[in-house]
Amino acid sequence: MQIIKHIIPLRDSVEALRNGAAGRSAETVALIPTMGALHEGHLTLVREARKRVDHVVVSIFVNPTQFGPNEDLDAYPRQLEQDSATLEREGVAILWAPDVTEVYPEGFATNISVSGVSENYCGAARPGHFDGVATVVCKLFNQVRPDYAFFGEKDWQQLAVIRRMARDLDLTLPHADHIHGVPTVREEDGLALSSRNRYLSPENRQRAIALPRAIRRTADRIERGEDVSASLSELKRALLEAGFSSIDYASLADATTLEPLDTRPDRPARLLVAARIGTTRLIDNMPVAGSHDKPAP
Ligand code: AMP
Repeated sequence: MQIIKHIIPLRDSVEALRNGAAGRSAETVALIPTMGALHEGHLTLVREARKRVDHVVVSIFVNPTQFGPNEDLDAYPRQLEQDSATLEREGVAILWAPDVTEVYPEGFATNISVSGVSENYCGAARPGHFDGVATVVCKLFNQVRPDYAFFGEKDWQQLAVIRRMARDLDLTLPHADHIHGVPTVREEDGLALSSRNRYLSPENRQRAIALPRAIRRTADRIERGEDVSASLSELKRALLEAGFSSIDYASLADATTLEPLDTRPDRPARLLVAARIGTTRLIDNMPVAGSHDKPAP
């Protein structure tokens, strides 16, 4: 595995991968953007990508522009050596690990803002967050020029924002699944894996199980036709009772446009929740089948 920190060698190495060791041309390359502190969720993205493409590039970049002034940028876990050993074992071809100055040269003045899908939920709770995400992901796409990119469904709104941006800015290839969403990887008790779970005290780690459980129960209730707003109120009550200190949002949304829904839709929807426990903010989401969807086989 090559560890690359500058854009020119990155371009050369990706080009060499594309041309193939045996001179075969047009080998495929996937990009998996991450902020490091890798866990099984990230590694599942790598394994999914390896099934579908010839070469995988993982980026590790803790992007300052997606953190708000009072967020955990400085405390965000950084463990490049350990992560790079893990990625090497997973058969990753290139670890792209630029410094902040490589990504944001002096005088950097461009911002990508995706309206609509970015505005509610985490966009409202974390002003500027999705501008930071969209701008850095657009740059990563331009730096690596991958055929495919893999993102986790864990960050459902992020995935929706990136798909919208990729379509709007013609970053997509003619593959429908050019931007591939990978289902959320969970601990055995249901908690979604996240680099931020390490901030949880043992007691709060135990209490955090209430989040996926309440989302699952609420998704089932809505699918059975129960009232959406009563189901969401019950979800919030259950989280506060379990020890969460506050809830940023708990909403039913159209799965693609993220438009909020107050009745059970006739198309796929997503139940999206962000809540705080101790000093940690957790997000999670699950699908809610539309009334016209076929039941799972
Ligand atoms: P991050 O390092 O948190 O920016 O995440 C990098 C990528 O990994 C994003 O596409 C995330 O959605 C994805 N990811 C993080 N946690 C999980 C998880 N538990 N399951 C699946 N994908 C995940």
